Amino acid sequence: MTNRGSYPANLAPGEALAIDGGTPVRTAPLPWELPGAYFIGAEERALVDQVVDAQSPFRFYGLDAQHMVDRLEAEWCRKFNHAFALGVNCGSAALHIALAAGEIGPGDEVLVPGYMWVSCLSAIVRLGAIPRLVDIDRSFCIDPEDMRRKIGPHTRAVLFVNMSGAMGRNEEVAAIARQHGLFMVEDCAQWAGGSLHGRSAGSFGDIGIFSFQLNKNMTSGEGGLLVTQSQHLYKRCVAIHDVGFARNEQGRLDPMDERYQLWGIGSRMSDLTGAMALGQLGKLDTITGNMRAAKWRIREAIADLPGLGLREIADPAGDTGPFLITIYPTAELCQRFTAALQAEGVRGHPGSLACIPMRDWGMHWYFNVPSLVHKRSLARDGFPWSHPANAFAAEYRYTRGTLPVCDDMESRAALLTISPMLSETDTDEIIAAFRKVGAALLAG
Ligand SMILES: *Cc1c(COP(=O)(O)O)cnc(C)c1O
Repeated sequence: MTNRGSYPANLAPGEALAIDGGTPVRTAPLPWELPGAYFIGAEERALVDQVVDAQSPFRFYGLDAQHMVDRLEAEWCRKFNHAFALGVNCGSAALHIALAAGEIGPGDEVLVPGYMWVSCLSAIVRLGAIPRLVDIDRSFCIDPEDMRRKIGPHTRAVLFVNMSGAMGRNEEVAAIARQHGLFMVEDCAQWAGGSLHGRSAGSFGDIGIFSFQLNKNMTSGEGGLLVTQSQHLYKRCVAIHDVGFARNEQGRLDPMDERYQLWGIGSRMSDLTGAMALGQLGKLDTITGNMRAAKWRIREAIADLPGLGLREIADPAGDTGPFLITIYPTAELCQRFTAALQAEGVRGHPGSLACIPMRDWGMHWYFNVPSLVHKRSLARDGFPWSHPANAFAAEYRYTRGTLPVCDDMESRAALLTISPMLSETDTDEIIAAFRKVGAALLAG
């Protein structure tokens, strides 16, 4: 474990913060917050080449189908102990498919945390259901107590979101969902490779979803995956992600299977994407292992700074590590501390969001999503807000002030992205910068 004694606990007399004109701890930009991107290499190229050489980029059949998506799904199930996995074209589609598989629609209310990603809200609203906001706790995921308070006669489902690379109170939320007969989708878009007390990400609800977009723990540029233990839900997902019907062993559509005559959204994964994702899956443990090690080294080395709070993480071994969340006594201190860290050189390349107050974290906060706040619709009639079955939600408001803990954390918490490429020196310098700024700004 880190020896805190090796970092300057206090400023040398006269040593000014860089923000006040002193010498910065470091000057080189931190690596990009795109964990999988740095690892793309020979393995991905060989697998993609195989698909190109076979002239068969479609997963279900072709001149000489290589079945990369099948391999990805099988390997995911084996590695993470899921019964069924389905590759899709992105995480946003996976959310839509998962909720549709659970038959969520008009008249249904879906519990969703106020700290999430806009795709979570979009999936609920496009299916005709109503998002019901639930507050977070210090885990930065759904607060089970607030969840209990928000359950009402129209509540049909809960969308649990494992934010910023780690878990929340997944087991408690799953127990409440079971107790109330709620369908549970677990959004693990930011938590691929994670676990909680030995149980894999995505196994706590009825369906788990993942994303392989560029910012996620592993990437194929675009891509996503659904997992479930239920064959029925899996078959519904298969039909919905495709053109709305089952497929036979030869990969041909089987529209006569009446149980799966549905509507599809055209979100299949290409075999080129499958090849990329399969290559990345082989590196996921290395990527998350690097991030976790660096993050926890920093956490332990700054934990004693007076007044500095850290996100609660129930199981450090299951944290995938891409984000460090720090909490400050006041909003002003949070802004000043973060600006001072940036001045010390704890920042990324231009355009990077490597070190920011969570105030700058955009549509991860409910009140920053204009389509939600203004109840926008894709249709002219205002669906789903105008649907008679949703009349119960007429007075629902989504403006700031709805969730006190979210509102508070947005103003007092900050985010540092942890790249898997951080060198030991990078990590030491991040720690030195935190301790230097902490000594100057946080009261002892
Ligand atoms: C990225 C993300 C998604 C959406 O995934 P895409 O592949 O970008 O569509 C959904 N939920 C969360 C929490 C995410 O971070």
